[in-house]
Amino acid sequence: MQFYREHYDVIVIGGGLAGLSAALVLAEQGKDVLVLERHNQPGGAATSFVRGGIEIEAALHEMVGIGPEDDRQMVGAFLEQKGVNVDWLRVPEAYHASLPGLEVTLHAGFETFAREVDAAVPGTYEKVLRVLELCRAVFESINELSEHSVNKLQLLLKHTDLVKTIGYSTQEVLDTFDLPQAAVDLLAPYWIYVGTSLSELPFTIFSIVMADYIGNGSYIPRQFSHEFSVKLAERVEALGAQIEYRQHVEKILVKDGRVTGVRTARGDEILADYVISAAYPNKVYTSMIEPLSEVPPKAIRTVNGRRLGLTAFSVILILDQPAEALNIRNYNVFHGDTMDTDELYRDLAGLGPYRYLTCICHNLANPDATPPGTCSYSITTLPRIDGWKTVSADEYDRVKHAVARQMIEDMSRWCGVNLLDHVLEIVIETPVTIAHYTGSWNGCIYGYAHTMEDHLVARLMMEQQDKVFEGLEFAGAHQIAGDGMGPAVTNGRRAAQNVLDAMRKRKA
Ligand SMILES: Cc1cc2nc3c(=O)[nH]c(=O)nc-3n(C[C@H](O)[C@H](O)[C@H](O)COP(=O)(O)OP(=O)(O)OC[C@H]3O[C@@H](n4cnc5c(N)ncnc54)[C@H](O)[C@@H]3O)c2cc1C
Repeated sequence: MQFYREHYDVIVIGGGLAGLSAALVLAEQGKDVLVLERHNQPGGAATSFVRGGIEIEAALHEMVGIGPEDDRQMVGAFLEQKGVNVDWLRVPEAYHASLPGLEVTLHAGFETFAREVDAAVPGTYEKVLRVLELCRAVFESINELSEHSVNKLQLLLKHTDLVKTIGYSTQEVLDTFDLPQAAVDLLAPYWIYVGTSLSELPFTIFSIVMADYIGNGSYIPRQFSHEFSVKLAERVEALGAQIEYRQHVEKILVKDGRVTGVRTARGDEILADYVISAAYPNKVYTSMIEPLSEVPPKAIRTVNGRRLGLTAFSVILILDQPAEALNIRNYNVFHGDTMDTDELYRDLAGLGPYRYLTCICHNLANPDATPPGTCSYSITTLPRIDGWKTVSADEYDRVKHAVARQMIEDMSRWCGVNLLDHVLEIVIETPVTIAHYTGSWNGCIYGYAHTMEDHLVARLMMEQQDKVFEGLEFAGAHQIAGDGMGPAVTNGRRAAQNVLDAMRKRKA
């Protein structure tokens, strides 16, 4: 029996969340879909692994776009409608901010959040609430604009908050509220999730993050992000798509500006009308398109013109005591010795000491995350790739252990407990691990940085003009919705929709 069919409507390269979400939409529409994944399981970064008999989350701290059972948000509602039923658990708090002069736990819900900021920085309730409401208005406008096209007059009349803030950075908009610096610091911790300092981060992006995380709260799957990936893959297959694991796609075949199929490392040439790639455009345009002579200079200019987002360095500990016994009382802690995000961003280009850490204890959202009497604790920083590119193979182990030690010592001081005395298992994920495991360009998990020069709205408007090959779409953090597991689903859906639109046009 032949392994592959003669021809597919669509080949999806990569069975991560974005690729699987694209396949889900297309398979439901009755298209012949083949997903080729180089690993032996689905999910990409959305996965877990086992050490010493204990399952360990590889990536997920918290996910947006899910919402409670009776009020599912964009991603949660989509998954349920498509029959992907994940057992979601709500994360108990937004975050604990541990910053110079501030130790404050803040919860999701606009009023709650504003009240808690006000308790720490009195007299700020009204202003903080107004910031959050502005974020919500901008977020709703962006959602609408990404789904429907509107004319200029509608834009001006209906989306006034978006129009007013669109040309400004987060810092510039926050400055207009004249808040005390401590209140700004308490609003800022999620900056690292989008990886751009407040002075460069478009307020639009800040709005999306705040409206979603603070407005709707965040979630994790009970059985780690692996549960999400497996259920998604199962549904994709149930809808008739073919998923093949251990199949690395080396080439995307192109003729006269149009995609014709792919070639795998095993040598199979598989034909298709459309290809959706999880691999970064940088990789596709520099080594995957065959023949490379088909790649126009415009493609290289576009990828060179974009700044890469952050990568990740994570130390995951399984500890021999329950969380409370180790003074770990918060699910999510942002710990920094400054909240000058320009300074922090500059430092992220080096190899440490890293001064801004994000720490998660899964047991505080899911008591059964590890066996009784133990807990998991992950300490993460999100460096720029620059420093890591300078590390030689000989130096790698030393640098990796030095960085991990610094991060564990910092959080040990904060907890008042030497965490190293309690380690049952330790795993260190570096940018190299991520590049190696997911194949992402330079180990980036954040696609391209959102900056004032390269803005979400501009990307939305230029989407069609940025297309290089007929029949080639991309799905991953490098696409419009950006990074994260929720956005990966949205990016996959969008790629599938672009393919469906192109199919309709071709038929007409
Ligand atoms: C340490 C860490 C912490 C994170 N924390 C969070 C968090 O708290 N919240 C959140 O929302 N997100 C988080 N993320 C980011 C999130 O995991 C990713 O944004 C998301 O999972 C990306 O999904 P994707 O499908 O776009 O890409 P990936 O997960 O990278 O999947 C791409 C897939 O394509 C496959 N592939 C690539 N090239 C080929 C090829 N040539 N042939 C065949 N297969 C190929 C890869 O093997 C992989 O399976 C974190 C990531 C990391 C690494």
